[in-house]
Amino acid sequence: MKKAVNYLQPFMEKEKQDAGLEGQSFRGKVLMATVKGDVHDIGKNIVGVVLGCNNYEVIDLGVMCPCEKILEAAVKHSVDVIGLSGLITPSLDEMTYVAKEMQRLGMKTPLLIGGATTSAKHTAVRIAPHYQEPTVHVTDASRCVGVVESLCSKELKPKYVQDNVKLQDELRSSYEARQVKLVPYQEACAKSFATDWSSIRIDKPSFLGTKTLKNYSIEKIAKYIDWSPFFMAWELKGKYPKIFQDPYVGVEAKKLFDDASAMLFDCIASSTLTAQAVYGFWPAASLGDDVVLFTDESRSKELVRFHFLRQQWERKGQNDFRSLADYIAPIDSGRQDYLGAFVVTAGHGADEIAKEFESKHDDYSAIMVKAIADRLAEAFAELLHEQARLDWGYGIEEQLGSEQLINEEYRGIRPAPGYPACPDHTEKRILFELLDAPGQIGVSLTESFAMWPAASVSGFYFAHPHSRYFAVDRLTSDQVESYAKRKGMPIRDIERWLSPNLGYEPS
Ligand code: SAH
Repeated sequence: MKKAVNYLQPFMEKEKQDAGLEGQSFRGKVLMATVKGDVHDIGKNIVGVVLGCNNYEVIDLGVMCPCEKILEAAVKHSVDVIGLSGLITPSLDEMTYVAKEMQRLGMKTPLLIGGATTSAKHTAVRIAPHYQEPTVHVTDASRCVGVVESLCSKELKPKYVQDNVKLQDELRSSYEARQVKLVPYQEACAKSFATDWSSIRIDKPSFLGTKTLKNYSIEKIAKYIDWSPFFMAWELKGKYPKIFQDPYVGVEAKKLFDDASAMLFDCIASSTLTAQAVYGFWPAASLGDDVVLFTDESRSKELVRFHFLRQQWERKGQNDFRSLADYIAPIDSGRQDYLGAFVVTAGHGADEIAKEFESKHDDYSAIMVKAIADRLAEAFAELLHEQARLDWGYGIEEQLGSEQLINEEYRGIRPAPGYPACPDHTEKRILFELLDAPGQIGVSLTESFAMWPAASVSGFYFAHPHSRYFAVDRLTSDQVESYAKRKGMPIRDIERWLSPNLGYEPS
């Protein structure tokens, strides 16, 4: 088990010696869970291993854990600390719900918040105010031991909690004092990203509708792996391959990489991980900030409609307010445009292999296989995007090396619903139905629109030559109202899904 966090070893051994606790009974009990609707657990599992190595008893409830189950287990096991983890933005709201429930039930257990979309600021502004007991944001696994130790110690706790309250007060004040000028939605629409539709090049895909790729070669996909995020998953900072020269983490990074390569080789040889994809292209036109897809080239019958959001934040040097809809020719432009979409997965099999490792107490390999599956899913998305550009025609002229691919130096983008240019996760429902991702490749959505298996990637393909990623960021209520109407959803529901993007306090 210790092998998992070799690079943290010196720190951990020292801590143990300092505390004079080597070989003694547990220093405290920590309950950990990935919240309801979320499936990501690599970070949480690394934290679990680090705490375990430091003599804390860890009760891990796994992924997609409803609030009641977390709180019931916390009471039953009389834990000292509860740690919540999540990766996608709807999980932030679920964490707030757990905090409110803990307050309602009069609980006293300190609450830790962690995971990729969480932040010290969000914890201070949206979660901590709902729970009177300590609510602490934990940035990474190397910090968690110190935090848990402080919260479990009678001597250290008062000062630690006081410092945390002070820090969160400051974060809240700076959040409230922030200067953000949002223009009204109508004004943002009037200053959209402009294209000369009479002259812009629009290519027609070589097929319309969907294609499914079953059991795609993992070996071929592996060549497209971007390794830098792999090290980030293990909480090592640095770019591949320069990271191997890093004086602090270089040696550990190389060990991790060698272990990953060996496991990847095994997966290829034994076909234990599989990769599937479904993707397609449709005739499309923008209608305001929506994009309408048609059943065929006659463009007479609507198939589905995607809804996009528009930037409203007036930043220095910004002269347009973008929506992804700006990248598709308007319905009255006289041009025939197209939109693509995809879902890929490399996650089938990963969970089973991880469970097998876990049953043999090999947490390191269990985490490793998930990290590899994640890398393969992202690599498959890159490979498939290249294929999509070939299918679309304009990719035939492209000549890019693997580094240029990783830097996405090609024409077109593949924005993912839930990410900054299209932050609404609920649009995945439309995307998944359009592609029949559950039926074609066995990828489904949780109630928070996380993809299952976890090692899956989905998105849209835009071919516009000037398309680029951007962040929609904060929204005013007039846009949210218009958006709710377009989607036929109650404003309250939309406000909940878009809560990290609201530039106002919902009533
Ligand atoms: N090579 C990386 C790719 C993932 S990050 C890896 O292996 O992990 C880049 C991807 O995130 C993009 O291809 C896109 O799908 C998504 N993305 C990045 N910025 C985005 C934005 N502003 N809006 C929507 N999607 C975005």
